[in-house]
Amino acid sequence: MNSRRDFLQKIAASTIALPFVPLYGAARKEAVKQPYQGPVLRVAIMGLGGYGTRVADAMRDCKMAKLTGVVSGTPSKIKDWQAKYGVPEKNCYNYENFDAVKNNPDIDAIYITTPNALHKDEAIRVAKAGKHVICEKPMALNAVEGQAMVDACKTANVKLLVGYRMHFEAKTLEVIRMRNAGEFGKPLFFQGLSGFRIGDPTQWRLNKQLAGGGAMMDIGIYSVNGARYMIGEDPIWVTAQETKNDHVKFKEGVDETITFQFGFPGGATASCLSTYSMNGLDKFYLNGEKGFAEMQPSTGYGPILGRTHKGELTQPHVTHQTVQMDEMAGIILQGKQPVVAVDGEEGLKDLKIIDAIYEAVKTGNKIALQL
Ligand code: NDP
Repeated sequence: MNSRRDFLQKIAASTIALPFVPLYGAARKEAVKQPYQGPVLRVAIMGLGGYGTRVADAMRDCKMAKLTGVVSGTPSKIKDWQAKYGVPEKNCYNYENFDAVKNNPDIDAIYITTPNALHKDEAIRVAKAGKHVICEKPMALNAVEGQAMVDACKTANVKLLVGYRMHFEAKTLEVIRMRNAGEFGKPLFFQGLSGFRIGDPTQWRLNKQLAGGGAMMDIGIYSVNGARYMIGEDPIWVTAQETKNDHVKFKEGVDETITFQFGFPGGATASCLSTYSMNGLDKFYLNGEKGFAEMQPSTGYGPILGRTHKGELTQPHVTHQTVQMDEMAGIILQGKQPVVAVDGEEGLKDLKIIDAIYEAVKTGNKIALQL
């Protein structure tokens, strides 16, 4: 009893003392804060380019995901990354030998950030090595490839996730919450503008073999995907028109500008623009029977800015890739369900729509979709 009384007296004394010693209070709070002790997803990044670097930097602030390995065709980059991110030699691979990751217990998932045309074969090899696949958008070049990836991951019993970072972005999620709560009424119309002026004509993004197309594969996909998560339905038809002014930069099969339209089962329509020839196009607008949401920028690295008929969206900005990787760790390790799917089936839907957009451009027909 005595010791209990002593303990209570000490507690009381420290509680009384706290308000008068604010610095002590802050330090104490810090000491009491428990470090995260739950499961951590150990990730290797494949393709150490611009986006891979962005993901690696963002993962420094993750709680549930950690960079533990690399796959690269450039030995000097491997050395740099080892020094910068503390990646041990035994977790470094190249494109010839990365199947050996199968026997590496320190890597749970590989995040593919290589040019689009390489995603399919790489993802299938990762799946066969028994590791989870996180793949950048577009998941593949077309729906046939995408389906092969989904099947391979299913057979190998590993998860396939696509880098749809906007599906975890706070302002975007607030608009989706409002729509689900009926605050916009019935969604009637979506406008998506996605584009930038592309530079260096020799880059892989302008090479049909590596990119699989042009602006649509790279940036137009944001309006394709955004139309679906903003309206909350999958389109049932698509029409599309292409404009090409620079036939030298944008060769056969590399689209410069495409306008496209969707119809949705609930009666809403969408009107979108995908381009490599106009700067700063990054805008979403949703109109419903009772209200609206507009976001500009809507899909850039942020901060995203937006407002609805009820006022400004004020959710704080957090580095998209940090949130994404923590959430993806939750999906893979704890079976967490995201508000908007980021799995292979979700990536496949966008590929089916993009296939239909290209078919509509080629034929001039209205293409029916069954997703
Ligand atoms: P980069 O060109 O900057 O990097 C790609 C990396 O892939 C290269 O650095 C290289 O790394 C590796 N690679 C392997 N084979 C080739 C090849 N034949 N040609 C060129 N590179 C090769 O591209 P990004 O990082 O900008 O894009 C990579 C992927 O990420 C794309 O699918 C893109 O759509 C996606 N992306 C997604 C974004 C998002 O916000 N979600 C934003 C930007 C891109 P190494 O030398 O290590 O082998």
